[in-house]
Amino acid sequence: MAPGALAKRIPKIHLHCHLEGTLRPATFVELAAKHGVGLRYRPSNAGGEAGSQGDPADPYRFEGMGEFLYLFAAVSRSLREPSDYARLAAEFVDDALAQGVIYGELFVSPPVWSFFNPSLDVRSTMEAIVSELRRARPRAIFRLLPDLTRNFGEAKAMETARAMAAMTDLDVVGVSLGGDEVRFPPRLFAEPFAYARSQGLHCVAHAGEVGGAASVRDAVELLGAERIGHGIRALDDPGTVEVLASRGIPLEICPTSNRLTGAVLIDHPHPYVDFDRLGCVVTIDSDDPALFDTSITGEYELVESTAGPAALERYVRNAIEATFAQPIEKQSMRAHLDRAVAELHERSSS
Ligand SMILES: [Zn+2]
Repeated sequence: MAPGALAKRIPKIHLHCHLEGTLRPATFVELAAKHGVGLRYRPSNAGGEAGSQGDPADPYRFEGMGEFLYLFAAVSRSLREPSDYARLAAEFVDDALAQGVIYGELFVSPPVWSFFNPSLDVRSTMEAIVSELRRARPRAIFRLLPDLTRNFGEAKAMETARAMAAMTDLDVVGVSLGGDEVRFPPRLFAEPFAYARSQGLHCVAHAGEVGGAASVRDAVELLGAERIGHGIRALDDPGTVEVLASRGIPLEICPTSNRLTGAVLIDHPHPYVDFDRLGCVVTIDSDDPALFDTSITGEYELVESTAGPAALERYVRNAIEATFAQPIEKQSMRAHLDRAVAELHERSSS
């Protein structure tokens, strides 16, 4: 098989992708100009804003996790009306289908939308997004895992969980937890997660990206997270790795994101190989692909070139099993993947 061939052809599954983080850079610049907001967001201690300039030719340049979170905020601020979100979702669908994505559970962050635009009607915005995502059917199915967003605290997280539990008609299948993991650890969100679970929603959480192994363990034990976003720091504690491996809790690993935010050192091999070797369920995604100047295909290519095609195929199979899709949908995804792999083998042997 030619190098990179599998990454290009294999059907793709999004399990850790923030819809806002897929906004094409040119669209971001256009929307920011339309709404008269800066390309950078940096609140100052005095309550105003410091340095909202950015480079329209390279609007997504940043260094480190702190600056990244502000960039994500700036992107979210440029999205102000349901029609902006519809455009975001429509362009996402075009880019995803072009790459052979067949299924996705996408993060969206309504608390961040409302922070920048308190008058935004969240339900109409979700409707605008979902009607575009449904255009992808039957080629691809997309569902939503709205983020409770740590930075706004527990009460807001509960409010968001309640609002999202009333939007299962809009393809909401669960809730997620992102944002500042160090200042807002998992234990603060046990109640909103318990509520979400009581409403039949699935629960996932970012953990071990910046916070330590205890953050990963707490996400599993206190929040009931069924999948962990990143989880990298779990490797500092064999007991936590054992919990992930023995319970089969999948890790959503995003290699380029982890290097750019500093979760993984640039000059070390990426630890997803260690997780795999230790019996954990590894899946691969792109996190905020536009902001990290990557794509799900790019991440799959990276994995294929470093860990080999067999590892990539295993991670995609893991991702299918790790979805919250119906059994019949999983069966169809497996068949799709089997066909793609068989075709590639045939091609390389003829
Ligand atoms: Zn993420």
